[in-house]
Amino acid sequence: MKRVFSGVKPTGHLTLGNYLGAMRRWAEVDQHRADALFCIVDLHALTVEHDPARVRRLSRQAATLLLAAGLDPALCTVFVQSHVDEHARLSYLLECVATDGEMRRMIQYKEKAGRERERGGSVRLSLLTYPVLMAADILAYGSDEVPVGDDQAQHVELTRDLAVRFNQRYGSTFVVPRATHPAVAARVMNLQEPTSKMGKSDDVGPGIVYLLDEPDVVRKKVMRAVTDSGREVVYDREGRPGLANLLEILAACTGGNPSDLSGVYESYGALKTDTAEAVVEVLRPVQERHRELCADPGYVEGVLRDGAERARAMARPTVDAAYRAIGL
Ligand code: ADP
Repeated sequence: MKRVFSGVKPTGHLTLGNYLGAMRRWAEVDQHRADALFCIVDLHALTVEHDPARVRRLSRQAATLLLAAGLDPALCTVFVQSHVDEHARLSYLLECVATDGEMRRMIQYKEKAGRERERGGSVRLSLLTYPVLMAADILAYGSDEVPVGDDQAQHVELTRDLAVRFNQRYGSTFVVPRATHPAVAARVMNLQEPTSKMGKSDDVGPGIVYLLDEPDVVRKKVMRAVTDSGREVVYDREGRPGLANLLEILAACTGGNPSDLSGVYESYGALKTDTAEAVVEVLRPVQERHRELCADPGYVEGVLRDGAERARAMARPTVDAAYRAIGL
């Protein structure tokens, strides 16, 4: 059986981008066809300015939402990164095969470091080395596949490079994983700035649909989405990014295809109304289940405890093998 690993960062409330780009596929496909691990990567949330109590709260909320989205602890392993020491143990070894030039080339590093500097803050060293810890997250489990949105493609590519380099230098130790992306909505864009991705840690609230937004809030955000001054509904990612984003969201929610859907609509208003309703319907069951799970926090804690134990047992042999391969 294939081993699959993926994660979410508790840096903000989870978004429709996280759901359509990643979580939904984890629940509907990956956990059924593979030996799958899904991780709340809390150590990654420390790479930028943060309130520790909020990170802890968001970690529990992310775990609850993963379960609400349909992850079943009987089928997959759900756990918190900091509960399993192997991630940090392996990260150090991988830092010893990675180069600073490779880290500085990462697009997310450039963007996030730029933002931290704009806020007048300093850039933590961990923001630079974050992709190495992510590589450790993936390689520690001998993962074959990493189902992610396409914003993570570059990081998974780096993970492959590090695995190959380590194997060549010290002997075959790691499985070389590959990223898989959803066919539609691999990159959901911000509704107010359709050339930037809908990211949970950004502060541009009105352009981000959160998984726990009330139906009326979802409707308002979608109806106010920035489009353009044209009239005809066409699917053109480059030229008409706002419209393309709505078509992709609608397609992802209804199982359609963005270009086919563009032919169905004669006005932007009608497209927005249907998209808003489709999003509300997709979120409804997740929100209902989330409410039920919130009434039983002990259950979520128990899932995370068991998950960490299972994850530790899977990661330890690989990480021990990496230390042995070096001769330590
Ligand atoms: P972020 O902090 O940007 O919300 P994470 O790093 O926690 O995202 O990502 C969790 C998963 O959600 C990843 O697989 C990522 O590729 C996916 N994802 C995040 N934002 C989007 C988006 N706007 N569209 C599609 N997938 C996304």
